[in-house]
Amino acid sequence: MSTSDNPNLADLQPETLAVRGGRPDGQLSMAPVLWASTTYEMGTLEEGRQLAHSTQAKKFYSRHGNPTVNAFESAVAELEGAQAARAYASGMGAIAGIVLGLCSKGDHIVAQKQLYGGTMQLLAGVCPRFGIDVTFVDGTVPGAFSQAIIPGRTMLVFAETPANPLLDLIDLDELGAIAGPITVVDATLATPLGVRPLDYGVNLVVHSATKAMAGHNDATLGVVSGERDLIDALWGFAVLQGACASPFDALNGLRGLRTLAPRLRQQGATAVAVGRALESHPAVNWVRHPGLESHPQFALGQRQYRMHGGVLSFDLAGGLEAGSKFVSAVQLCRPATSLGGPETLVTHPASTTHAGMTSEELSDCGITGGTVRLSCGLEHVDDIIADILRAL
Ligand SMILES: *Cc1c(COP(=O)(O)O)cnc(C)c1O
Repeated sequence: MSTSDNPNLADLQPETLAVRGGRPDGQLSMAPVLWASTTYEMGTLEEGRQLAHSTQAKKFYSRHGNPTVNAFESAVAELEGAQAARAYASGMGAIAGIVLGLCSKGDHIVAQKQLYGGTMQLLAGVCPRFGIDVTFVDGTVPGAFSQAIIPGRTMLVFAETPANPLLDLIDLDELGAIAGPITVVDATLATPLGVRPLDYGVNLVVHSATKAMAGHNDATLGVVSGERDLIDALWGFAVLQGACASPFDALNGLRGLRTLAPRLRQQGATAVAVGRALESHPAVNWVRHPGLESHPQFALGQRQYRMHGGVLSFDLAGGLEAGSKFVSAVQLCRPATSLGGPETLVTHPASTTHAGMTSEELSDCGITGGTVRLSCGLEHVDDIIADILRAL
């Protein structure tokens, strides 16, 4: 390939980078290539010895690295403006890889209390077993993260934005300004096309690529991006943790990135339209989406995000009974626990994603029995709204 075929990446918009990401170098193939092999012939023993310890060996053994997974990692790193990325078998694989890969007995973590249920259970349930203390703070309160830091002991500051399931936003300027502990943002709901936390000085950004990035409900995948040294440090634990990404899922991740921008834009617009229809409905207490002016952090969302995804939540006045009735009354929208795919999915956080939490913990996060989370898909917006209004 001549160099004139390679435009300067710095000149390209993220949408354009997403379409090109992971295309094999020096080959004519438009689509990424699937490398299913788990192992590769070594030239010499010395070469094998070096590959075994190389954080960037693509062709050695698939738990260490794989060319297709590596192509997905490069594509994501490019979108995040990161030096490097590491893919995992799932979003939770990535989050557990960060927490257990970087923290030791006696260390302290500051985390926001508005979190994906699995992350909450890892931090609140697993970390104490390993002697890692966690302090939970309200991530929407200015200064909350930095005030909870214990100098010399806090290893990680963990945030999620927009956060599950109420779409709370974190001020990334404030998080990025924290020095000392490693700052981590789970930006699954935004995707790298919505927000790039590393641009604000955050150290690591993690995604469940299972969601909007792969985008078709057919891949389970996680990915962490950041500075090369930090990703290399994670690699050392990741090869032992064994939550390595499947090349098939990485291929679906690359396919998903190619259409991420138009999907996210349509889903975000649908979510705002659904939100407006719900805001004026008498059975609805409140509606949350960062693209609605009624969101308490609307201005922050406008400032720090290029686009918002299709996830919104709302609260039904009738509480638990109304919430469970709604989820069984919808016909087009399907009750299932994921987000960012082509199908509109409804979840009832109190009985699914956040089922592991006590009722005090739930109400502390603003979740009630009437709270419903909706992930807008790619169906026509009129059909989605009609289904929801009929179910209400
Ligand atoms: C789904 C999700 C996860 C976990 O990802 P998996 O791929 O299901 O392991 C983590 N964080 C957020 C915000 C999620 O939505």
